[in-house]
Amino acid sequence: MRLSLVTKNLKPSATLAMNELISEKQRRGEQVYHMGFGQSPFPIHPSIREALCNHADERRYLPTQGIHALRNQVSEFYSKMFGLDYSSEQIIIGPGSKILLFDAMMCLEGSVFLPSPSWVSYDQEAHLLGKDIHYIETHPETSYLLTPEALESAIRQHSPTLGQQKILVLNYPCNPTGCSYSKTQLKELADTARNHNVQILSDEIYALLSFRDHEHHSIAEFYPEGTILTGGLSKDRSAGGFRVGVMLLPEQEQDLLKAILAVASNTWSCVAAPIQYASLEAYRPTPEITQYIADCTSIHELVTRSVHQKLITHGIRCPRPQGAFYLFPDWNSDRDVMQRGGITTSVELAGTILEKWNVASLPGMDFGMQSDDFCIRVATVDYDGEGALERFRADPKRAWRNPNEFVKEVAPRIIMACSQLGSFTDSIR
Ligand code: PMP
Ligand code: GLU
Repeated sequence: MRLSLVTKNLKPSATLAMNELISEKQRRGEQVYHMGFGQSPFPIHPSIREALCNHADERRYLPTQGIHALRNQVSEFYSKMFGLDYSSEQIIIGPGSKILLFDAMMCLEGSVFLPSPSWVSYDQEAHLLGKDIHYIETHPETSYLLTPEALESAIRQHSPTLGQQKILVLNYPCNPTGCSYSKTQLKELADTARNHNVQILSDEIYALLSFRDHEHHSIAEFYPEGTILTGGLSKDRSAGGFRVGVMLLPEQEQDLLKAILAVASNTWSCVAAPIQYASLEAYRPTPEITQYIADCTSIHELVTRSVHQKLITHGIRCPRPQGAFYLFPDWNSDRDVMQRGGITTSVELAGTILEKWNVASLPGMDFGMQSDDFCIRVATVDYDGEGALERFRADPKRAWRNPNEFVKEVAPRIIMACSQLGSFTDSIR
Protein backbone atom coordinates (compact mmCIF):
# COMPACT_ATOMS: atom_id res chain seq x y z
CA MET A 1 0.00 0.00 0.00
CA ARG A 2 1.31 3.43 -0.88
CA LEU A 3 1.15 6.22 1.64
CA SER A 4 -0.40 9.58 0.92
CA LEU A 5 2.16 12.28 0.32
CA VAL A 6 1.22 14.27 3.41
CA THR A 7 1.78 11.41 5.83
CA LYS A 8 5.15 10.45 4.35
CA ASN A 9 7.08 13.05 6.30
CA LEU A 10 4.84 13.02 9.34
CA LYS A 11 6.57 12.12 12.60
CA PRO A 12 4.81 10.33 15.45
CA SER A 13 4.21 12.64 18.40
CA ALA A 14 7.66 12.95 20.01
CA THR A 15 6.17 13.07 23.51
CA LEU A 16 4.01 9.99 23.13
CA ALA A 17 6.80 8.09 21.36
CA MET A 18 9.22 8.86 24.20
CA ASN A 19 6.68 7.72 26.77
CA GLU A 20 6.27 4.40 25.00
CA LEU A 21 10.04 3.94 24.64
CA ILE A 22 10.60 4.55 28.35
CA SER A 23 7.71 2.31 29.42
CA GLU A 24 9.34 -0.45 27.33
CA LYS A 25 12.74 0.16 28.97
CA GLN A 26 11.12 0.10 32.41
CA ARG A 27 9.30 -3.16 31.57
CA ARG A 28 12.69 -4.66 30.75
CA GLY A 29 13.84 -3.62 34.22
CA GLU A 30 16.11 -0.79 33.07
CA GLN A 31 16.58 2.13 35.44
CA VAL A 32 15.40 5.33 33.74
CA TYR A 33 14.58 8.70 35.25
CA HIS A 34 11.60 9.67 33.16
CA MET A 35 11.74 13.35 32.35
CA GLY A 36 10.57 12.77 28.80
CA PHE A 37 6.80 12.99 29.14
CA GLY A 38 4.52 15.58 30.66
CA GLN A 39 1.73 13.82 32.50
CA SER A 40 0.42 15.17 35.78
CA PRO A 41 0.91 12.42 38.38
CA PHE A 42 -2.01 13.09 40.73
CA PRO A 43 -5.07 10.86 41.25
CA ILE A 44 -8.46 11.83 39.84
CA HIS A 45 -10.50 13.86 42.29
CA PRO A 46 -13.01 11.53 44.05
CA SER A 47 -16.05 13.57 42.98
CA ILE A 48 -15.07 13.21 39.30
CA ARG A 49 -14.44 9.51 39.78
CA GLU A 50 -17.83 9.07 41.39
CA ALA A 51 -19.58 10.99 38.59
CA LEU A 52 -17.89 8.76 36.01
CA CYS A 53 -19.06 5.60 37.80
CA ASN A 54 -22.58 6.97 38.13
CA HIS A 55 -22.79 7.60 34.39
CA ALA A 56 -21.40 4.35 33.08
CA ASP A 57 -24.81 3.62 31.54
CA GLU A 58 -24.80 6.70 29.31
CA ARG A 59 -24.58 4.93 26.00
CA ARG A 60 -25.99 7.32 23.44
CA TYR A 61 -24.24 9.61 21.01
CA LEU A 62 -24.32 13.15 22.29
CA PRO A 63 -24.38 16.46 20.39
CA THR A 64 -21.07 17.12 18.65
CA GLN A 65 -20.63 20.48 20.37
CA GLY A 66 -21.01 18.84 23.78
CA ILE A 67 -24.03 18.60 26.10
CA HIS A 68 -25.57 21.92 26.98
CA ALA A 69 -25.16 21.44 30.73
CA LEU A 70 -21.41 20.88 30.32
CA ARG A 71 -20.94 23.89 28.05
CA ASN A 72 -22.84 25.96 30.61
CA GLN A 73 -20.59 24.62 33.32
CA VAL A 74 -17.46 25.43 31.32
CA SER A 75 -18.80 28.95 30.74
CA GLU A 76 -19.27 29.40 34.50
CA PHE A 77 -15.83 27.93 35.19
CA TYR A 78 -14.04 30.36 32.86
CA SER A 79 -15.99 33.24 34.31
CA LYS A 80 -15.12 32.32 37.90
CA MET A 81 -11.50 31.25 37.36
CA PHE A 82 -10.40 33.77 34.72
CA GLY A 83 -13.07 36.48 34.65
CA LEU A 84 -13.76 35.63 30.98
CA ASP A 85 -17.23 35.96 29.59
CA TYR A 86 -18.18 33.21 27.09
CA SER A 87 -21.69 31.88 26.58
CA SER A 88 -22.31 28.15 26.22
CA GLU A 89 -22.97 28.77 22.49
CA GLN A 90 -19.35 29.85 22.00
CA ILE A 91 -17.92 26.67 23.52
CA ILE A 92 -17.02 23.31 21.95
CA ILE A 93 -16.19 20.21 23.98
CA GLY A 94 -13.79 17.88 22.16
CA PRO A 95 -11.79 14.70 22.76
CA GLY A 96 -8.71 16.62 23.92
CA SER A 97 -7.54 20.10 23.01
CA LYS A 98 -5.01 18.64 20.57
CA ILE A 99 -7.70 17.66 18.06
CA LEU A 100 -9.60 20.90 18.65
CA LEU A 101 -6.47 22.88 17.77
CA PHE A 102 -6.09 20.77 14.65
CA ASP A 103 -9.71 21.31 13.62
CA ALA A 104 -9.48 25.08 14.16
CA MET A 105 -6.26 25.20 12.14
CA MET A 106 -8.00 23.25 9.39
CA CYS A 107 -10.90 25.70 9.28
CA LEU A 108 -8.79 28.86 9.30
CA GLU A 109 -7.15 30.19 6.21
CA GLY A 110 -3.55 31.32 6.44
CA SER A 111 -0.05 30.17 7.19
CA VAL A 112 0.96 29.19 10.70
CA PHE A 113 3.46 31.14 12.80
CA LEU A 114 5.03 29.37 15.77
CA PRO A 115 7.49 30.78 18.28
CA SER A 116 10.44 28.43 18.66
CA PRO A 117 10.38 26.59 20.97
CA SER A 118 6.76 25.46 20.67
CA TRP A 119 5.05 22.25 21.76
CA VAL A 120 5.73 19.32 19.42
CA SER A 121 2.32 18.79 17.84
CA TYR A 122 1.45 22.25 16.41
CA ASP A 123 4.06 21.87 13.70
CA GLN A 124 2.96 18.37 12.75
CA GLU A 125 -0.71 19.35 12.74
CA ALA A 126 0.01 22.29 10.43
CA HIS A 127 2.13 20.00 8.28
CA LEU A 128 -0.76 17.51 8.00
CA LEU A 129 -2.96 20.34 6.79
CA GLY A 130 -0.46 21.37 4.15
CA LYS A 131 0.02 24.78 5.76
CA ASP A 132 3.10 26.93 5.42
CA ILE A 133 4.88 26.97 8.77
CA HIS A 134 7.09 29.84 9.93
CA TYR A 135 9.07 29.62 13.14
CA ILE A 136 9.85 32.83 14.99
CA GLU A 137 13.08 32.68 16.93
CA THR A 138 13.01 33.61 20.63
CA HIS A 139 15.86 33.78 23.13
CA PRO A 140 16.76 32.21 26.48
CA GLU A 141 17.77 35.61 27.91
CA THR A 142 14.14 36.74 27.52
CA SER A 143 12.66 33.44 28.68
CA TYR A 144 11.95 32.38 25.09
CA LEU A 145 8.97 34.76 24.99
CA LEU A 146 7.67 36.12 21.71
CA THR A 147 7.98 39.90 21.36
CA PRO A 148 5.74 42.10 19.18
CA GLU A 149 8.86 43.18 17.25
CA ALA A 150 9.80 39.58 16.42
CA LEU A 151 6.20 38.85 15.38
CA GLU A 152 6.10 41.91 13.14
CA SER A 153 9.38 41.13 11.51
CA ALA A 154 8.35 37.52 10.83
CA ILE A 155 5.13 38.76 9.24
CA ARG A 156 7.04 41.25 7.09
CA GLN A 157 9.38 38.50 5.97
CA HIS A 158 6.91 35.69 5.30
CA SER A 159 3.54 37.26 4.70
CA PRO A 160 4.07 40.71 3.26
CA THR A 161 0.69 41.03 1.48
CA LEU A 162 -1.23 43.60 3.45
CA GLY A 163 -4.29 42.29 5.27
CA GLN A 164 -3.65 38.61 4.49
CA GLN A 165 -4.86 36.41 7.37
CA LYS A 166 -2.30 34.55 9.45
CA ILE A 167 -2.47 32.11 12.37
CA LEU A 168 -0.27 32.38 15.44
CA VAL A 169 -0.18 29.64 18.07
CA LEU A 170 0.66 30.96 21.53
CA ASN A 171 1.02 28.70 24.56
CA TYR A 172 1.48 30.04 28.08
CA PRO A 173 2.53 28.88 30.61
CA CYS A 174 4.62 27.29 27.92
CA ASN A 175 5.43 23.70 27.17
CA PRO A 176 8.51 23.33 26.93
CA THR A 177 9.80 26.31 28.98
CA GLY A 178 7.31 26.87 31.81
CA CYS A 179 7.54 30.60 31.08
CA SER A 180 4.54 32.85 30.61
CA TYR A 181 3.50 36.36 29.55
CA SER A 182 2.59 39.31 31.74
CA LYS A 183 -0.59 41.28 31.18
CA THR A 184 1.37 44.08 29.48
CA GLN A 185 3.20 41.69 27.17
CA LEU A 186 -0.08 40.07 26.13
CA LYS A 187 -1.66 43.45 25.49
CA GLU A 188 1.22 44.46 23.22
CA LEU A 189 1.09 41.16 21.32
CA ALA A 190 -2.68 41.59 20.95
CA ASP A 191 -2.22 45.06 19.40
CA THR A 192 0.32 43.74 16.92
CA ALA A 193 -1.87 40.76 16.03
CA ARG A 194 -4.90 42.99 15.47
CA ASN A 195 -2.93 45.38 13.25
CA HIS A 196 -1.69 42.56 11.03
CA ASN A 197 -4.76 40.32 10.82
CA VAL A 198 -3.24 37.57 12.92
CA GLN A 199 -5.75 35.13 14.42
CA ILE A 200 -4.46 33.60 17.63
CA LEU A 201 -4.84 30.03 18.79
CA SER A 202 -4.23 30.59 22.47
CA ASP A 203 -3.36 27.27 24.10
CA GLU A 204 -3.87 27.92 27.81
CA ILE A 205 -4.04 24.33 28.97
CA TYR A 206 -1.54 25.09 31.79
CA ALA A 207 -3.25 28.35 32.90
CA LEU A 208 -4.35 27.06 36.29
CA LEU A 209 -0.91 25.62 36.95
CA SER A 210 0.57 29.12 37.24
CA PHE A 211 2.90 29.55 40.19
CA ARG A 212 2.17 31.88 43.13
CA ASP A 213 4.24 34.78 41.80
CA HIS A 214 2.62 34.74 38.38
CA GLU A 215 -0.93 35.81 37.68
CA HIS A 216 -2.31 34.22 34.53
CA HIS A 217 -4.03 36.45 31.99
CA SER A 218 -5.48 35.42 28.66
CA ILE A 219 -4.78 37.31 25.46
CA ALA A 220 -8.54 36.99 24.90
CA GLU A 221 -8.93 39.81 27.46
CA PHE A 222 -7.25 42.18 25.00
CA TYR A 223 -8.11 40.61 21.65
CA PRO A 224 -11.40 38.76 22.11
CA GLU A 225 -12.37 39.05 18.44
CA GLY A 226 -9.18 37.35 17.21
CA THR A 227 -8.52 34.77 19.92
CA ILE A 228 -9.54 31.13 19.97
CA LEU A 229 -8.81 29.82 23.43
CA THR A 230 -8.23 26.18 24.34
CA GLY A 231 -7.92 24.28 27.60
CA GLY A 232 -8.97 20.96 29.07
CA LEU A 233 -8.80 18.43 31.84
CA SER A 234 -5.43 16.91 30.99
CA LYS A 235 -3.13 19.03 33.12
CA ASP A 236 -4.65 20.77 36.15
CA ARG A 237 -7.14 17.95 36.78
CA SER A 238 -4.59 15.27 35.88
CA ALA A 239 -7.00 13.56 33.48
CA GLY A 240 -5.07 13.32 30.20
CA GLY A 241 -6.52 9.87 29.53
CA PHE A 242 -10.09 11.16 29.83
CA ARG A 243 -9.53 13.01 26.55
CA VAL A 244 -11.49 16.17 27.26
CA GLY A 245 -10.60 19.52 25.77
CA VAL A 246 -12.52 22.76 25.42
CA MET A 247 -12.44 25.52 22.84
CA LEU A 248 -13.85 29.02 23.40
CA LEU A 249 -14.54 31.02 20.27
CA PRO A 250 -15.17 34.72 19.61
CA GLU A 251 -18.86 35.61 19.79
CA GLN A 252 -19.19 36.79 16.20
CA GLU A 253 -17.43 33.77 14.63
CA GLN A 254 -20.53 31.72 13.86
CA ASP A 255 -19.19 30.47 10.54
CA LEU A 256 -15.97 29.27 12.12
CA LEU A 257 -17.91 27.48 14.86
CA LYS A 258 -20.13 25.79 12.27
CA ALA A 259 -17.11 24.77 10.18
CA ILE A 260 -15.33 23.23 13.18
CA LEU A 261 -18.50 21.37 14.16
CA ALA A 262 -18.89 20.08 10.60
CA VAL A 263 -15.33 18.74 10.68
CA ALA A 264 -15.93 17.28 14.14
CA SER A 265 -19.23 15.63 13.34
CA ASN A 266 -17.72 13.91 10.31
CA THR A 267 -14.65 12.70 12.17
CA TRP A 268 -14.90 12.25 15.93
CA SER A 269 -18.71 12.66 16.42
CA CYS A 270 -18.71 13.64 20.09
CA VAL A 271 -16.84 13.15 23.35
CA ALA A 272 -17.69 9.83 25.05
CA ALA A 273 -20.97 10.18 26.95
CA PRO A 274 -19.87 8.97 30.43
CA ILE A 275 -16.85 11.26 30.18
CA GLN A 276 -18.99 14.29 29.37
CA TYR A 277 -21.10 13.68 32.45
CA ALA A 278 -18.03 13.18 34.62
CA SER A 279 -16.62 16.42 33.19
CA LEU A 280 -19.64 18.27 34.55
CA GLU A 281 -18.18 17.56 37.97
CA ALA A 282 -14.63 18.40 36.86
CA TYR A 283 -15.76 21.84 35.66
CA ARG A 284 -17.82 22.61 38.76
CA PRO A 285 -15.65 25.11 40.64
CA THR A 286 -16.54 23.75 44.06
CA PRO A 287 -14.24 24.52 47.00
CA GLU A 288 -13.04 20.88 46.82
CA ILE A 289 -12.10 21.00 43.12
CA THR A 290 -10.46 24.42 43.39
CA GLN A 291 -8.50 23.26 46.43
CA TYR A 292 -7.41 20.13 44.56
CA ILE A 293 -6.14 22.25 41.65
CA ALA A 294 -4.38 24.63 44.06
CA ASP A 295 -2.68 21.77 45.94
CA CYS A 296 -1.50 20.06 42.74
CA THR A 297 -0.21 23.41 41.46
CA SER A 298 1.67 23.98 44.71
CA ILE A 299 3.40 20.62 44.35
CA HIS A 300 4.29 21.34 40.72
CA GLU A 301 5.74 24.66 41.85
CA LEU A 302 7.72 23.13 44.71
CA VAL A 303 9.15 20.37 42.53
CA THR A 304 9.74 22.35 39.33
CA ARG A 305 11.32 25.35 41.05
CA SER A 306 13.50 23.04 43.09
CA VAL A 307 14.72 21.30 39.92
CA HIS A 308 15.35 24.72 38.39
CA GLN A 309 17.42 25.73 41.40
CA LYS A 310 19.44 22.55 41.20
CA LEU A 311 20.16 23.01 37.49
CA ILE A 312 21.32 26.59 38.09
CA THR A 313 23.51 25.41 40.98
CA HIS A 314 25.10 22.89 38.61
CA GLY A 315 25.92 25.79 36.29
CA ILE A 316 23.29 24.87 33.69
CA ARG A 317 21.46 27.77 32.04
CA CYS A 318 17.68 27.49 32.27
CA PRO A 319 14.94 30.16 32.24
CA ARG A 320 12.94 30.34 35.46
CA PRO A 321 9.53 28.67 35.04
CA GLN A 322 6.32 30.45 36.05
CA GLY A 323 3.96 27.52 35.68
CA ALA A 324 3.35 23.97 34.36
CA PHE A 325 5.88 21.17 34.87
CA TYR A 326 8.64 21.66 32.34
CA LEU A 327 12.10 23.16 32.12
CA PHE A 328 14.18 24.00 29.07
CA PRO A 329 17.89 23.94 29.98
CA ASP A 330 20.65 24.39 27.45
CA TRP A 331 24.36 23.60 27.19
CA ASN A 332 25.20 26.08 24.43
CA SER A 333 28.08 27.46 26.48
CA ASP A 334 29.68 23.99 26.18
CA ARG A 335 29.25 23.86 22.41
CA ASP A 336 32.94 23.38 21.54
CA VAL A 337 33.68 20.65 24.02
CA MET A 338 30.50 18.82 23.13
CA GLN A 339 31.21 18.96 19.43
CA ARG A 340 34.72 17.65 20.06
CA GLY A 341 33.13 14.79 21.99
CA GLY A 342 30.87 13.93 19.06
CA ILE A 343 27.66 15.58 20.25
CA THR A 344 26.60 17.83 17.39
CA THR A 345 22.81 18.13 17.75
CA SER A 346 20.21 18.30 20.51
CA VAL A 347 19.06 14.84 19.44
CA GLU A 348 22.54 13.51 20.18
CA LEU A 349 22.60 15.48 23.41
CA ALA A 350 19.31 13.95 24.62
CA GLY A 351 20.50 10.54 23.37
CA THR A 352 23.74 10.75 25.37
CA ILE A 353 21.91 11.89 28.49
CA LEU A 354 19.54 8.93 28.15
CA GLU A 355 22.09 6.26 27.27
CA LYS A 356 24.89 7.29 29.62
CA TRP A 357 23.07 9.05 32.43
CA ASN A 358 19.67 7.29 32.35
CA VAL A 359 17.67 10.49 32.15
CA ALA A 360 14.94 10.60 29.49
CA SER A 361 14.24 14.04 28.04
CA LEU A 362 13.29 15.43 24.64
CA PRO A 363 15.64 17.26 22.28
CA GLY A 364 15.02 20.95 21.57
CA MET A 365 14.73 20.03 17.90
CA ASP A 366 11.36 18.40 18.55
CA PHE A 367 10.18 21.82 19.67
CA GLY A 368 11.30 23.60 16.51
CA MET A 369 14.77 24.66 17.70
CA GLN A 370 17.76 24.59 15.34
CA SER A 371 19.43 21.18 15.39
CA ASP A 372 22.69 22.53 16.85
CA ASP A 373 21.02 24.44 19.65
CA PHE A 374 21.98 22.28 22.64
CA CYS A 375 18.72 22.43 24.55
CA ILE A 376 16.43 19.73 25.92
CA ARG A 377 13.04 19.67 27.60
CA VAL A 378 12.73 18.00 30.94
CA ALA A 379 9.37 17.24 32.56
CA THR A 380 9.23 17.24 36.36
CA VAL A 381 6.53 14.67 37.05
CA ASP A 382 8.36 11.38 37.71
CA TYR A 383 7.06 10.79 41.25
CA ASP A 384 4.15 9.25 43.11
CA GLY A 385 1.49 11.96 42.92
CA GLU A 386 -0.85 10.35 45.42
CA GLY A 387 1.85 10.19 48.07
CA ALA A 388 3.00 13.73 47.33
CA LEU A 389 -0.54 15.08 47.64
CA GLU A 390 -1.08 13.32 50.96
CA ARG A 391 2.23 14.58 52.32
CA PHE A 392 1.57 18.14 51.14
CA ARG A 393 -1.96 18.24 52.56
CA ALA A 394 -0.76 16.94 55.91
CA ASP A 395 1.38 20.04 56.41
CA PRO A 396 1.50 22.58 53.55
CA LYS A 397 3.32 25.16 55.68
CA ARG A 398 6.17 22.77 56.31
CA ALA A 399 6.48 22.04 52.58
CA TRP A 400 6.70 25.76 51.77
CA ARG A 401 9.12 26.38 54.65
CA ASN A 402 11.51 23.75 53.41
CA PRO A 403 10.86 22.95 49.75
CA ASN A 404 14.10 20.98 49.28
CA GLU A 405 13.28 18.64 52.10
CA PHE A 406 9.72 18.16 50.81
CA VAL A 407 10.93 17.39 47.28
CA LYS A 408 13.56 15.00 48.60
CA GLU A 409 10.83 13.13 50.47
CA VAL A 410 8.18 12.96 47.77
CA ALA A 411 10.24 12.96 44.56
CA PRO A 412 13.53 11.14 45.17
CA ARG A 413 13.81 10.08 41.52
CA ILE A 414 13.63 13.72 40.47
CA ILE A 415 16.49 14.55 42.82
CA MET A 416 18.51 11.67 41.35
CA ALA A 417 17.76 12.85 37.82
CA CYS A 418 19.03 16.35 38.72
CA SER A 419 22.25 14.99 40.08
CA GLN A 420 22.66 12.87 36.91
CA LEU A 421 22.27 16.04 34.82
CA GLY A 422 24.83 17.69 37.10
CA SER A 423 27.24 14.77 36.64
CA PHE A 424 26.80 14.91 32.88
CA THR A 425 27.64 18.63 32.99
CA ASP A 426 30.73 18.01 35.14
CA SER A 427 31.81 15.25 32.77
CA ILE A 428 31.97 17.58 29.78
CA ARG A 429 33.56 20.56 31.56
N1 PMP B 1 -1.10 21.80 24.40
C1 PMP B 1 0.01 21.57 25.12
C2 PMP B 1 0.99 22.67 25.25
C3 PMP B 1 0.24 20.35 25.72
O1 PMP B 1 1.35 20.15 26.44
C4 PMP B 1 -0.70 19.33 25.57
C5 PMP B 1 -0.36 18.04 26.24
N2 PMP B 1 -0.94 16.99 25.96
C6 PMP B 1 -1.84 19.59 24.79
C7 PMP B 1 -2.02 20.84 24.23
C8 PMP B 1 -2.90 18.59 24.47
O2 PMP B 1 -3.61 18.18 25.53
P1 PMP B 1 -4.97 17.38 25.39
O3 PMP B 1 -5.13 16.96 23.96
O4 PMP B 1 -4.80 16.25 26.31
O5 PMP B 1 -6.04 18.35 25.80
N1 GLU C 1 1.74 17.23 26.66
C1 GLU C 1 2.57 16.16 27.10
C2 GLU C 1 4.02 16.44 26.79
O1 GLU C 1 4.33 17.38 26.12
C3 GLU C 1 2.22 14.82 26.57
C4 GLU C 1 0.92 14.54 25.94
C5 GLU C 1 0.87 14.88 24.49
O2 GLU C 1 1.90 15.27 23.91
O3 GLU C 1 -0.23 14.78 23.94
O4 GLU C 1 4.87 15.70 27.23
